[in-house]
Amino acid sequence: MQEATAGYRISIRSLLVRPDEKRTVRKQIDADTAALYGLPCTELPEIDGVLENRAGVLMMRYRLRCVPELICDRCLSPVAMQIDETFEHVIVTETASEENDAEYLLAPDAMLDLAEVAMTDLRLSMPTKTLCSPDCKGLCPVCGKNRNDGDCGCSSADITLDFQ
Ligand SMILES: [Zn+2]
Ligand SMILES: [Zn+2]
Repeated sequence: MQEATAGYRISIRSLLVRPDEKRTVRKQIDADTAALYGLPCTELPEIDGVLENRAGVLMMRYRLRCVPELICDRCLSPVAMQIDETFEHVIVTETASEENDAEYLLAPDAMLDLAEVAMTDLRLSMPTKTLCSPDCKGLCPVCGKNRNDGDCGCSSADITLDFQ
């Protein structure tokens, strides 16, 4: 994984030490890398933001856009979901225990891995449950048919599996 994401690692050494230093960050995560992080995408993740040293504190603020490839938890159909979110992090080179927070990014070697940042933020922003529609009927636990496509004829008395 380290090799695959090597192109996403940027040095932030000068940004860390120079107050008011600023750098624009624009990057697209490629399909292989998104898949490596377990989130294949139909529209690849786009990072668009800025790294800025504000009075000695290095901040990263960026917009992340993509369409992850998701499937419905109930009926296994593809679900298209547009992600368009803004994230803000404080970048630190060492962490104190109280800074063990998603807001803080740890860059001990003054290198920032943009793929790691974006894919972690993306994963955390995903809903824990993916449904094609709130009233998805799911698959029939008896015959496996997608019940959104119509009644399969199985008796509901046979159904003991309780779909959430
Ligand atoms: Zn569904
Ligand atoms: Zn059935």
